[in-house]
Amino acid sequence: MAVSERPSALTTTTPRLDGTPSGPRLAARAVHVHKIYGVGDTSVTALGDVSLDFVAGGFTAIMGPSGSGKSTLLHCLAGLDTLTSGQVLIGDTDLASLTDRQRTILRRDRLGFVFQSFNLLPTLTAEENITLPADLAGRDPDSEWLATVVAKLHLEDRLRHRPAELSGGQQQRVAVARALISRPEVVFADEPTGALDSKAGSELLHFLRSVVDDLGQTVVMVTHDPGAAAYADRVVFLVDGAIVEELVAPTRETVLDVMGRLGDE
Ligand code: ADP
Ligand code: MG
Repeated sequence: MAVSERPSALTTTTPRLDGTPSGPRLAARAVHVHKIYGVGDTSVTALGDVSLDFVAGGFTAIMGPSGSGKSTLLHCLAGLDTLTSGQVLIGDTDLASLTDRQRTILRRDRLGFVFQSFNLLPTLTAEENITLPADLAGRDPDSEWLATVVAKLHLEDRLRHRPAELSGGQQQRVAVARALISRPEVVFADEPTGALDSKAGSELLHFLRSVVDDLGQTVVMVTHDPGAAAYADRVVFLVDGAIVEELVAPTRETVLDVMGRLGDE
């Protein structure tokens, strides 16, 4: 997909055949999400009335000071934490309508996760790590898709290596490939470049961008780094559990500007 065709919050709505407007397809939605930890005097409102749409094929960065609710939002969107009130939808599926087991299966089959610390299994090769989610589900990985993902992440020559034989950047690319193996509807990444040096970090962001542009994947990434956020289509800023600002087509400079105004430099 050409850069100019990127879906973003600016994407104009396309009329349906019957003339009624229909927006771009949504991969996920948060609707009036509240998350309160604890009760009474010691309760903490981690998220207060957060509503956000994630367009399919879009790349969103979530920023905000430490303790602003970024990880909580990611965990609530990914069905790793329950809401106090509100709704999270993955596609058309309301997470609250699922049993614990159904939610586990949805996470496995329809979502992908990338963590700061790679979380690869040291005894498995890169390829075994990538196909592990499919193996655990008792399925053969789609070999064509596996080849596409491996080529897209430039991992062809690394498949037989174990994590200890790979650089940090290569390990994180393996983790991204693992997150993509089920062709998820959304990939969630919590500080994916946090453990990488700046060169490996830029490379990883370039790969994440191409996973969105070339493979049509949907990425939601928490980051502290304005340079990383600039790779996204939009940046959502959280302060004290609320969305205070949204930037479309961010640059490092515009992100820094908002961070300065929010007192988070
Ligand atoms: P961020 O990722 O932006 O640093 P978090 O989402 O981790 O922020 O945390 C948001 C707020 O919720 C913080 O005040 C934090 O202390 C609180 N919090 C997060 N997880 C828990 C928990 N399991 N129990 C109680 N409070 C929590
Ligand atoms: Mg966090």
